[in-house]
Amino acid sequence: MPPVARPARLARFVIACAALAAAGATQALNINYTFLPGTSEQAQQAIRMAGAEWTSVIKTDVTLTLDFESGLRLSSGLLGTTKSMYLDMYYGEFRSRLAQGSTSAADAIAVASLPGGANFGRLINLTADNPAGAGSATPYVDPGRTTVHLSAANARALGLQFQGNESPGCAAACDARIDISNRYAYDYDPTDGITPGTFDFVGIVRHEIGHALGFVSGVDSLDLASTLRPAGSFTAVTALDLFRYSSLSAASHVIDFTADARHKYLSIDGGATMGPEFAEGEVHGDGAEASHWKDGSGIGVMAPYIEQGVADSRITSADLLALDVIGWTTVSAVPEPAPVALFALGLAAIAGLRLGRRRGPSRMAA
Ligand SMILES: [Zn+2]
Repeated sequence: MPPVARPARLARFVIACAALAAAGATQALNINYTFLPGTSEQAQQAIRMAGAEWTSVIKTDVTLTLDFESGLRLSSGLLGTTKSMYLDMYYGEFRSRLAQGSTSAADAIAVASLPGGANFGRLINLTADNPAGAGSATPYVDPGRTTVHLSAANARALGLQFQGNESPGCAAACDARIDISNRYAYDYDPTDGITPGTFDFVGIVRHEIGHALGFVSGVDSLDLASTLRPAGSFTAVTALDLFRYSSLSAASHVIDFTADARHKYLSIDGGATMGPEFAEGEVHGDGAEASHWKDGSGIGVMAPYIEQGVADSRITSADLLALDVIGWTTVSAVPEPAPVALFALGLAAIAGLRLGRRRGPSRMAA
């Protein structure tokens, strides 16, 4: 047998395997981890554990480059921050990309609920051009928004291809940089419970990756604004904000972008059905950044606070619904905690000493 025959067969075999591997690889989120100096081996392992929880439930075929750092002292009360690169997309293009990528019943309802045309309206307040008076807290309808503010990861979920950038402080081009403060003590292994006096490190990273994926609200840019500005300067309406409603905004058939203490909720059908509640803002709302679920509600991993000695929420169906309608393809269901576990968590939240620490995404540039 001529020696050339064997390599040829081998080559065909290898190509066949590569094709199979490629077919398998189209079904999942992939994360490229970059660990910045100061991130211990222990922390790196826990970060990979948190990342694997997301890659096991998100089926969109994209690769994200995320930088992690756990050696810096963040402000007191802050456990973690996420700084994403952001892109603005025309609303009409966003809607058509969402429709193209629609894979679930929730996606179909969500796409149908979005206003047609090139713009959308929103309820807003505290602006310099509020008809009720400059800076008034009275909500009013701002009709002409034309762009959607997307985290780099969210934009990739919608099929956009681009280079990451170094602006969020990444080692090289990246989609987001996640920092976990070195100010506090952590338990890096949640599988045997969380040691009293420490925080659930994997849980915090799980939460921060959720922000990178696009669980953020531009309402924080309004809530935290230090100067009075016109509505037109608050352009950071995220994909998630397109499903942010209140009873008042639903009555006007627009989303709710106000910073105040009225209840805001996720609605995938134009405000008609009230989904899980959102936090309302640190300054003008309920005290928690709007880029979260409502505090103490047990809705999911994107709750604003975590307590010492308690394992943080796992990824819930509410978390997945939010990511699903902003452009991700997710598994259809996650195992929910047993009723007994939910009850115990509820008791801990009510009776436990509040040692919660705020966790938030970086403040988005408005
Ligand atoms: Zn957060």
